[in-house]
Amino acid sequence: MADYRVAEGHTGGSWNLQGIGMTSQRTRNRMVNRLREQGIKHEELLALMSRMPRHIFLDEALSHRAYEDISLPIGHQQTLSRPWVVARMTELLLEMPERPRKVLEIGTGSGYQSAILASLFERVVSLERIGSFQAKAQKCFQALGLDNLELHHADGHDGWEAQAPYDAILVTAAPDVIPPRLLEQLSDTGVMVLPVGSGEEQSLTRVTLNASGHTSDVLAAVHFVPLQQGLV
Ligand code: SAH
Repeated sequence: MADYRVAEGHTGGSWNLQGIGMTSQRTRNRMVNRLREQGIKHEELLALMSRMPRHIFLDEALSHRAYEDISLPIGHQQTLSRPWVVARMTELLLEMPERPRKVLEIGTGSGYQSAILASLFERVVSLERIGSFQAKAQKCFQALGLDNLELHHADGHDGWEAQAPYDAILVTAAPDVIPPRLLEQLSDTGVMVLPVGSGEEQSLTRVTLNASGHTSDVLAAVHFVPLQQGLV
């Protein structure tokens, strides 16, 4: 884990990070400038990403690459998505007519995407099939003072019925088809954002419910790890 310390919790302004957290502010600003060039427009999100210490979610050996325009390995052959993917998926939720309050995330992984969500939305439930990721991510949330996250070691195909319905669902691993149980747990005005498809390239898809079922918009070609069955 990188050398960082948080003096105070998340107070809506900035985190008081020492050590590498401070020195990486310049690289974070560069990342945010790049996100703007790549079409990300939501100012609150850009401001958040310029504060959020992405490097603490990675192993120390990789922390110097945290703000590059790449996805990064987090162990167990899983990856933390590149910044544009995290930003665009989050921005799609922020573009909803009403800001979602309760969000379900599938694939906690490093916890970076979860921390972004928990900084913007009231309540986040995040599911992860690889148990060892949870403790690592939890440490980062504690360091950032984020206490509105609920983590479960569970298979995301089933969603998390106990807290349903969700105003938004964000899936960070690719299923071949939209998991039906997730659709069932979406509120009437809910939106689900996920990569769909097998193979090297998948379609970043926004699913919206309507009276006759749901509609899907395909937004971009993306590359995610597959949504897998069962717990590890
Ligand atoms: N959002 C993560 C991305 C991690 S990669 C981040 O910011 O780091 C995708 C994650 O989805 C991996 O951690 C993988 O273990 C998890 N995953 C894959 N299939 C899953 C399933 N069926 N249920 C829950 N999590 C799953």
